[in-house]
Amino acid sequence: MEMQKSLIVDQSKCTGCRTCEMACSLHHEKKCSPLLSRIRIIKFEARGENYPNVCSHCTKPQCVSACPQGAIQLNSVTGAVVINEELCIGCRLCIAACPQGQIAMHPERDVSFKCDLCGGDPACARFCPTGAVKYADMDEFIMAKRREFSARQKHVS
Ligand code: SF4
Repeated sequence: MEMQKSLIVDQSKCTGCRTCEMACSLHHEKKCSPLLSRIRIIKFEARGENYPNVCSHCTKPQCVSACPQGAIQLNSVTGAVVINEELCIGCRLCIAACPQGQIAMHPERDVSFKCDLCGGDPACARFCPTGAVKYADMDEFIMAKRREFSARQKHVS
């Protein structure tokens, strides 16, 4: 079975340029606007750090069980948790249920919106110029992090 991919964030590589937000809103809404982006860059100005905040597409999504309309479903091909706008009534229960704050009310339509992995080729990862956001196998990412940690330990000792 093909391994499912995820959006993987390396905060240390994020420069806060917001290209990912522009790519996301352009892909979904044909407009460049951070307000319409499904990925959000959180800026810690005092520390000079940026954090790309993306949906984890949980395996047991609380938003799915919270929705009274059955408007949120798991895409079995991409693994994305996706909102069907046709069914959404804008009740906000999914927004309250998400433990990561990854769902918001759409600023122009009376429905909630979130990341849908762009159907399997996320624009944010495609256009991030630094590799801070990648679409990759989770195992690959964990191995890379272990190698990085091990290299650092050797350098210290
Ligand atoms: S495009 Fe990449 S580097 Fe720029 S803000 Fe987004 S995640 Fe950070």
